[in-house]
Amino acid sequence: PARPIASINPATGQILKTFLPLGDSELEARLELAWRTFGSYRHTTFAERAAKLRRAADILGAGREQYARLMSAEMGKTLTSALAEIDKCAAVCHFYAEHAAGYLADQPAQTDAQKSFVRYQPLGPVLAIMPWNFPFWQVFRFAAPALMAGNVGLLKHASNVPQSALAIEAIFQQAGFEAGVFQTLLVGSERTARLVADERIKAVTLTGSEPAGRSVAATAGQHLKKTVLELGGSDPFIVLPSADLAAAAATAVKARMLNSGQSCIAAKRFIVVEAVADRFEQLLVEHFRALKVGDPLLADTDIGPLATEAILTGLDAQVRSSIERGARVLVGGGRLAGAGHFYAPTLLTDIPKDSPAYSEELFGPVASLFRVKDLNEAIDLANDTAFGLGASGWTNEPDEKARLIEAIDAGAVFINAMVKSDPRLPFGGIKTSGYGRELGREGILEFVNIKTVWES
Ligand code: NDP
Repeated sequence: PARPIASINPATGQILKTFLPLGDSELEARLELAWRTFGSYRHTTFAERAAKLRRAADILGAGREQYARLMSAEMGKTLTSALAEIDKCAAVCHFYAEHAAGYLADQPAQTDAQKSFVRYQPLGPVLAIMPWNFPFWQVFRFAAPALMAGNVGLLKHASNVPQSALAIEAIFQQAGFEAGVFQTLLVGSERTARLVADERIKAVTLTGSEPAGRSVAATAGQHLKKTVLELGGSDPFIVLPSADLAAAAATAVKARMLNSGQSCIAAKRFIVVEAVADRFEQLLVEHFRALKVGDPLLADTDIGPLATEAILTGLDAQVRSSIERGARVLVGGGRLAGAGHFYAPTLLTDIPKDSPAYSEELFGPVASLFRVKDLNEAIDLANDTAFGLGASGWTNEPDEKARLIEAIDAGAVFINAMVKSDPRLPFGGIKTSGYGRELGREGILEFVNIKTVWES
């Protein structure tokens, strides 16, 4: 059943605002506007698009406090992290405003033609199905390259962040983009299959859970539409004996607790070689105990509420089931009493293979600690997952760095650093973490017609 389209403050449970989903005729009007607008927008120059995208960045900058508070109120992220998210959105706008023309310039090729080259042309309206965990960033990460390439965007945002979805639409309009270049569609997920099938929609990008990805990709497959899927992860964080343990432990906590633990690229499985495992475990326990859980608007809060009741109960069920199967709790282990969807920072160890903590994504402030004999065992365990998004490896041995880079099955490997996205580098996964890439040159190339031109 469809979730209501509503903002509910997860710190208090208070309903902030509810929305009626778009009716069929409103939806049709928006699709038609997108299609018509594409006909003219595709002929605008990179310079024209860039000027508007830079204006969007300025609007984000001027309203950063207001937008950050909106995200905190709708899905509970700390205000500090929300402000950083707005800044990152402005940065991705500047990045593609600067680089799109170069990335999409005709590429000459030496062949036996008199002249041959590759041209990159926009595809048309792209449907973006987006999640609530980074309500602004996920959308700007898609929109900045898509709009610079000459596509137009239609946003179906998660049902619990409608105010963020409308604010983003307003930003693009205030920046000077015509109304049809970027539109928000307030509809539930049950209406997306029809959108994916609509012939005016040329491609789909989805960030979210594996079931949502499978469902959208199946429909898109039937209609032969290009998709990019950015799904879940259960990223390994590998600590080897030569690592700087203090730095590794401090970064481990940040990497796991980012966005109150609700991030696809959060480190989730901490795989530590036996020789340093006791010390690393002790450091993690200390860091976890020091975390402050509470009001996301306070500057010293590390962890806010989880975004929805469903996320919290789902996480709690995974933790309970893992404990029943033999996992041991080192810190935390349950929901916090009182109003709001608060969960205790939790550290599990002795995790059996048949438990959710071993094989599933845990979307909240819960870390799983594993001990292994050596690097080989660490790599085997790191790869023993259906997911393959990012991995973080900690070592000061050049040979071990090279092994990790080569042997980890994931879309990214970070050495002595936490996994994060950066507009200058492609971002995405393999296996059930999805396919396709966002960001970098690879990201803008996902939604273009790569046209071969031959003149003899
Ligand atoms: P979902 O995947 O359900 O939601 C993400 C987006 O997909 C929303 O816009 C949602 O719409 C839409 N959606 C959901 N189901 C379908 C469908 N069958 N067809 C088309 N669109 C669909 O994530 P949840 O919020 O339910 O979170 C569940 C789990 O997903 C998390 O615990 C986490 O494991 C994972 N997740 C991963 C994210 C990531 O960054 N990779 C982000 C969010 C979640 P609507 O809101 O209307 O249902």
